[in-house]
Amino acid sequence: MDKTEPFRERIKELTELINRYNHYYYVENQPLVSDSEYDQLLAELMDLEKQYPQFRLPDSPTQRVGGEILSEFKTVRHQVPMLSIDNTYSEQELRDFDRRIRELIRTQTVEYVVELKIDGVAVSLIYENGLFQLGATRGDGWQGDDITANLRTVKTLPLSIKHRERLEVRGEVYMRKDDFERLNRTRIEKGEEPFANPRNAAAGSLKLLDSSLVAKRNLQLFVYAGLLKSQPATHWEVLHFLKQLGFPVNPHGRMVKNIEEVLHLCQSWEKTKDSLPYNIDGLVIKVNCLKTQELLGATSKSPRWVVAFKFPAEQATTILEDVIIQVGRTGVLTPVAKLKPVPVSGTIVSRATLHNFDEIMRLGLKIGDRVFVEKGGEVIPKIVKAVIQVRSGAEKEILVPRNCPVCGSQVVKDEKGVALRCPNVTCPAQVKERIIHFASRGAMDIEGLGESRVTLLVDRGLLKDYGDIYSLRLHDIVNLEKMGEKSARNLLLAIQGSKKRPLSRLIFALGIRHVGAHSSEILASHFRSLERLSQADEETLAAIPEIGPVMAASIRAFFANQANVQVLEKLHKAGVTTIEETQPESNLLGGKIFVITGTLSRYTREEAARLLSSRGGRVSESVSRKTDYLVCGENPGSKLEKARSLKIPVITEEELEKMLGKG
Ligand code: NAD
Repeated sequence: MDKTEPFRERIKELTELINRYNHYYYVENQPLVSDSEYDQLLAELMDLEKQYPQFRLPDSPTQRVGGEILSEFKTVRHQVPMLSIDNTYSEQELRDFDRRIRELIRTQTVEYVVELKIDGVAVSLIYENGLFQLGATRGDGWQGDDITANLRTVKTLPLSIKHRERLEVRGEVYMRKDDFERLNRTRIEKGEEPFANPRNAAAGSLKLLDSSLVAKRNLQLFVYAGLLKSQPATHWEVLHFLKQLGFPVNPHGRMVKNIEEVLHLCQSWEKTKDSLPYNIDGLVIKVNCLKTQELLGATSKSPRWVVAFKFPAEQATTILEDVIIQVGRTGVLTPVAKLKPVPVSGTIVSRATLHNFDEIMRLGLKIGDRVFVEKGGEVIPKIVKAVIQVRSGAEKEILVPRNCPVCGSQVVKDEKGVALRCPNVTCPAQVKERIIHFASRGAMDIEGLGESRVTLLVDRGLLKDYGDIYSLRLHDIVNLEKMGEKSARNLLLAIQGSKKRPLSRLIFALGIRHVGAHSSEILASHFRSLERLSQADEETLAAIPEIGPVMAASIRAFFANQANVQVLEKLHKAGVTTIEETQPESNLLGGKIFVITGTLSRYTREEAARLLSSRGGRVSESVSRKTDYLVCGENPGSKLEKARSLKIPVITEEELEKMLGKG
């Protein structure tokens, strides 16, 4: 056999596969694989075609702009082709792009415009005599679909402008993240297939045949190019001109003097992109001078004067291998997806939360399905949808359990009718989880008492509840597996040391339903003793800011339960501190309210909150008009956008330290 034969085969296989993926992505708007998987296959094909150009097929996806035209719409021929954009994930390739241009036009530096790469659908808008006449999709780059009627429903698209000459404007139609979530929720409720992401939802909406349905999708627009008869000298001026005509131009575009500034913007947006109300999948870097753009020209697929810097993908496709059931400390049964490990935004993901069994039903998941997983702004990945088009028939139903997988008790539905619970408070799974929580870092912080030790101690009958922790003796534990005398002594010391934890930690450690670390701080500073808290009635509790009736009822129920009273008695007898001993160290911050978003580099959230309250500040969970400062760490969430819109001062970790008198 010819040695090159396997490469010819692979090129053929990849061409067919990618063309199939293109069809589902561009025409059906229901991709079969994630963009990152797609990009990898395309890169492999490009590489092989470079090595073996003789095997490149006439319908190779490397030579064409991705989409197709649809028979349902009138076809529109583009006067200037609507091309794709070369993309890169690496800073080095951006530098190479810059170097090539500098060499070609023989200059020291090149001026660029850096724009957000809005994750939507490209459209062309034609104005004649100041009126919006025709709107089209990119299609195959040379011709697209006439979707004028659908585009008229986009509220920010100007229907008339003060410009008489014929004008073609290009931009991106997109869907905001909140509108997307809402749309998918209703689709799932109606038993329709959800969209994988806002881009696919926007593309699917633009291709609906009934414009009144499109209007309900609340599509948005940003424009980023204008083909003017008399062009100014730079792209920046074009954007400015379009803005003046009333077109929505994204406000975050920047003109920069060199590639270093471009790289700086790339790094900074990678950290803050999640705070935007819409998805961006990277930045678009364009040569500012239009003459230079012309000189550089284009290949059959993309212009040479523009490049996209893409962020690591936050979505991936993988296989749902199994669903395991965890029993939490309040008895809630949580299904957890076991996934074939896959990289998502820089880490390997092998598990995803499924929240509850209704969610599994809603998503219509089966074991063995190919699924889209996503990290997004959240730390725990979630499953967005199953790709039902690729099912083989061998997938297995996921059964809703009738019994607790740990103790066998019959499960019940909780008050809200969503979660399944094991009603047995002595269920070993619940007991273990409650003790693990009690000893965890944010709670009583008992070093050496983690998951495996707790499991061992519960299984040996040495711990029946967290009150028993304080009566453990050396002879009880010294002979346990992987223990030894030294670590046994260290564990006892750690247990001893935990008796002095602040009251707020103890309250959190008790594991009262709905009472988190933040509420525990509030309760501790309000009551200043566990006894007083245990005696408070529901009305008193609910009157405390940020506590609310659900939490008040739960606190009351906790202290009314005889079994809990007995455990608390054990803590008391063991000498665990149950009163608030610390006074605020100073009143430097005079009751100012802080909200924290993102990850701080030097403190955990709890540590920062404790520091702030020790200086007389207050920490709140959500941004409102009452917030005095937003402390912004890395990868901030939507709180940043909200704070900006309410004009609340945003401070960095360093500025926070200065305020705390530490900087
Ligand atoms: P692209 O989407 O990566 O980049 C080009 C597009 O960016 C333009 O057409 C325009 O719509 C958009 N854009 C957004 N902001 C812009 C701005 N400020 N200036 C200029 N353009 C801007 O390229 P493409 O050719 O449209 O699509 C290729 C990509 O689509 C692939 O890299 C892949 O990630 C994805 N894809 C995925 C599948 C799949 O099955 N998952 C299939 C096909 C394509």
